[in-house]
Amino acid sequence: MTARRKSRLTEDERELVRSDANRIDKDKKLKRLGKRIAMALKSAGHTRAIIDDRRNKSVGPDEKPLVKRRIRRNAKQTSAVMLKCCTIPEIIKTQHGSVRAVYMNQCKCTLCPRCAKLKAAAARRRAISVVDELAKKGHRFSLITVTVPHTKRDSLETVADALLLCCRALTKSEEFKKYVRHYARGVETTKTANGYHVHAHFIVDGLYWPKEDLKDHWIEIVRRACGRRATRNGVDVRGLKDTGKGIMEAIGYPFKVADLKKFSADELVELWRVFKGRHLQQMCKAWGKRAREIEEADDAGAEQLAVAEGIEYVRFSKVLKDVRNRDDGAIEIARQIHDYLMSEGPQATAEALAAYLSKPKTLPKALRHSPSSRFT
Ligand SMILES: [Zn+2]
Repeated sequence: MTARRKSRLTEDERELVRSDANRIDKDKKLKRLGKRIAMALKSAGHTRAIIDDRRNKSVGPDEKPLVKRRIRRNAKQTSAVMLKCCTIPEIIKTQHGSVRAVYMNQCKCTLCPRCAKLKAAAARRRAISVVDELAKKGHRFSLITVTVPHTKRDSLETVADALLLCCRALTKSEEFKKYVRHYARGVETTKTANGYHVHAHFIVDGLYWPKEDLKDHWIEIVRRACGRRATRNGVDVRGLKDTGKGIMEAIGYPFKVADLKKFSADELVELWRVFKGRHLQQMCKAWGKRAREIEEADDAGAEQLAVAEGIEYVRFSKVLKDVRNRDDGAIEIARQIHDYLMSEGPQATAEALAAYLSKPKTLPKALRHSPSSRFT
């Protein structure tokens, strides 16, 4: 029966079904990975990973247990937030009073693979909008990749601190300012046989900077900023013909999914502790400003279109509140959200919503936000 039904699909339809299945499958895998990372953070208290936090260097020996306890508590909170990622509806898109889409909450944690995907897409979109505009005006771009020397014995924190310090020294240096007008930067961490490999990609718009001069400059920066001896292999420069490809490379995932899968629980906790709250993707001020302007103009256009098409965005918390006040419109919307979640998932949330509709006084736990949804 299914075979016959399948054969009636056109090639396009078949492709659509396949890609949809792929998408759902990929999302399931990311969800599983996210859960594993969250569980690693939850058990952070039992791992060796919590060592002295270098950013709390000034704390005395008496306070150290306190600092460790604080990190452990933060790890647990982050874990709770991560486990709730993409499970609670946040914004509902309606058109003439019927539900068109349900946007789920994001935990925005540094290590969350699902949020990383959305964050990378947003950062790329912003960078592309600016770079494309300049490319049309005839600007040329290069991709510079830099790294600091490391060995197996270096901790992640040492390597990451060294690289970020050198990057700051580089962008602040006179030489850099002379050759580079604007840039966007992304930091990436992988694990190699030779320890943690932290490196930064810069996509730059500027004058021709002779490769050898740039390499010498980087070696000097590394020597002055962190006392390490970099080699000429620590820098790679390429002219960019395809800006889109360059942006994909320069601005992307701080950690590769394949790497995250390989890390042990201890290493995941360490990764979280070292990178939480750090800006791993950055743009120079001028590009950041221009990207915001373009985004605002797009938003204004989209808003006008939405008004014309009768589209409205409603907060889920508002829907719940109105259901509690027995508002007929809200009850209808909540029913449609329920149907949407039943087909698209997560079904546990749909069931919780059904429970709330039958007894609007008690809000089920599955519909409540975590204590601090903005935790990093
Ligand atoms: Zn998330």
